[in-house]
Amino acid sequence: MPERPRIPLSNPEISGNEWLYVKKCLDSAWVSSAGSYVNEFEKNLSGMVNKQHVVATSSGTAALHLALLSLNIGAGDEVLVSDLTFAAPLNTIRYCGAEPILVDSDRESWQLDPELIREFLRKQCARSTRGLINQTSGRRVAAILPVHILGHPGPESQISELASEFDLFVIDDISETLGAKVRGRPVGGGATVACYSFNGNKIVTAGGGGALATNESAVAERAFYLSTQAKDDPIFYGHNEIGYNYRLTNLQAALAVAQLERLEEFVERKRAI
Ligand SMILES: *Cc1c(COP(=O)(O)O)cnc(C)c1O
Repeated sequence: MPERPRIPLSNPEISGNEWLYVKKCLDSAWVSSAGSYVNEFEKNLSGMVNKQHVVATSSGTAALHLALLSLNIGAGDEVLVSDLTFAAPLNTIRYCGAEPILVDSDRESWQLDPELIREFLRKQCARSTRGLINQTSGRRVAAILPVHILGHPGPESQISELASEFDLFVIDDISETLGAKVRGRPVGGGATVACYSFNGNKIVTAGGGGALATNESAVAERAFYLSTQAKDDPIFYGHNEIGYNYRLTNLQAALAVAQLERLEEFVERKRAI
């Protein structure tokens, strides 16, 4: 049988301001985890995804990890998550010591099925002073983590309704779906925290990188704090908690700023294909 041509998920396309911004970044010598491109990237992405705060991270996986940590999700908690997914969201749930509950997808859309979540929450969970408890495991159900795969938004309004009915956080994994809209608004509108990836195989790339976006200033502050080694005293290097080295570099951000300028163009091209 003749070999079938491979169809790549997404190939980096570097023909805008990428060279210019990366050169400017190199000329400035601000190549590490502070600098004007990081700030510009956060500001531009915030406008594009319609959330007040953005924290740029070293990867999409780091963004997901920080989202969970910043919402105090940890041991004794459970998170409802898509089973048709890249492994990263599941890994990050386990990094925190929490347990994933896998939710099957809808046959038509391939996105997680909100009816299965509804049934689980209504029939298998009960409210208590600790929150919503999975009666089989005795653990708290803390959040829903929909993974919007392959450029298609999941059932956002149904997930939002369930989250508010049962007091759950929504962490949206939008790594594969930046630029998609739901009724004219950027996907992730119902998310407590929305997470993005800028890896080489995503719709826009920073080489490697990620971001989280939220309207909760306390969550954004906490995520930033944890992403920069949980530093309480910048002069004497005082630390009172476990932190991470999860910040995007200015060099990566320079590439990302140029790529973000072309998001609409990339989305249109993807639609045409
Ligand atoms: C790529 C991807 C991630 C992880 O992003 P990295 O930047 O590679 O860490 C997470 N979730 C989904 C759905 C992805 O496709």
